[in-house]
Amino acid sequence: MINRVVSGKEIKGLAKLLSESNKIVITCHVSPDGDAVGSSLGLYHLLVDLGKDVKIVTPDAPPQSLKFLNSWNEIVSYARYTDFGNKLLDSADLIFCLDYNALYRVDRMSEALRKSSARKVMIDHHLQPEYFCDVTISYPNMSSTCELLFRVLCELGLYEEISSVSAECIYAGMMTDTGNFSYNSNDPNIYIIISELLKKGINKDKIYQLAMNTKSADAIRLNGYAVSEKMQIFPESKAALITLTREELEKYNYQKGDTEGLVNMPLSDPDVVWSCYMREEEGYIKISARSKGHFAVNQICELYFGGGGHRNAAGGEFRGTLDEAIVTFKNILAQKE
Ligand code: 5GP
Ligand code: MN
Repeated sequence: MINRVVSGKEIKGLAKLLSESNKIVITCHVSPDGDAVGSSLGLYHLLVDLGKDVKIVTPDAPPQSLKFLNSWNEIVSYARYTDFGNKLLDSADLIFCLDYNALYRVDRMSEALRKSSARKVMIDHHLQPEYFCDVTISYPNMSSTCELLFRVLCELGLYEEISSVSAECIYAGMMTDTGNFSYNSNDPNIYIIISELLKKGINKDKIYQLAMNTKSADAIRLNGYAVSEKMQIFPESKAALITLTREELEKYNYQKGDTEGLVNMPLSDPDVVWSCYMREEEGYIKISARSKGHFAVNQICELYFGGGGHRNAAGGEFRGTLDEAIVTFKNILAQKE
C-alpha cells in the first residue's frame, strides 16, 4: 500500500466540487512539459470515463514528443485558439490547475482564468503556492504532479476507474519529471505506484522510448554540436553553461523540444554541480538550469532570470540579449565565489 499523503479535507472538498460539476476545463503551465501534459491527459481520460464534459486548454502548444499520448490532438492551445479558449474557461463549472503554483505561470491565459466564475482546484508540487483556487492540493515533496494526481485519484476512491490510457499519461509525467527516475525519485512509494500502473497495462519501455529517446537526425546533430562546441565549464564554480543562438538553432532546423535534456549533459561530469542552458527565442532568452544535491537553481532562476522551479530543476525567461544573459551568468559565478 502507498502511504497516505493528501489531507482528507482536501479530498472531501474536491469530491464535492467534482460531484457538482459537469463542464470541466483542465489547464497547465505555459511551455507544458511531460508532467503538465501527462497529468492533464491522465485526468482528462478519467473524467471523460466518468461521463463529464471535459476540455484541456494549455497556454501554448504541447510538445510533439508527447503526441503518442491518447487525445494529445484534442488539447486546445490558448495561444492559437484564444477566443475558443476564453469561451471554454468562461463557461466551465470547474477548472483544474495542474502542475503550476501561480497564475502568472499560464502566461496570457491568466486574466481569463482569474475572471472565470468556475470553481478551481490546484493539484501541484511546486513550492509556495498562490491561493487563488477553491481547493489547493499542493505537495512540493511529490516527485511530480502525476504522482500526486495518482494519489488523489486513489484517495477519491477512483483507482478502479483509472484506465490503461489514463495510466499511460500518468506514467509519462512521472517518468519525465524525474529524468526516467534518475533524480528526485528515492521514495519507495513511487515504485509501488509504478507497479499499479503496470498492472493497468502500460508499456513503460515503449513510453520511455517515445517520450524521452526519440530525436530527429537534425536534433541529434544539434545536441552534439551544443556539447562539443558550445559547452563551457567553469571549474572554480563547478558550473557549466551552454548557449545557442537563433542562427545556430536554425542551422539545425530546430523544432520545439529538440534540446530537451541538453542541460543535463554537463552534470555527467562529477566536478560539475550545476548547469545552465540558454536558448535564444523571439524576444527573450529561455533559461534552463539543473543541479545536483543541495545547490538550489530555483533561487538563481528566481533572482536573476524571472523564473523559478524546483531545487534541482528550474527555468526562467530572461528579457534581454543572449550576451546580457551570459554576463548575468558570469556575475552569478563571481558572486558565488
Ligand atoms: P525546463 O528547464 O524544463 O523548462 O523547466 C524545468 C522546471 O523549471 C519546470 O518544471 C518548472 O518548474 C520550472 N520553470 C521553467 N521555466 C520557468 C519559468 O519561466 N518560470 C518559473 N517560475 N518556473 C519555470
Ligand atoms: Mn511537474
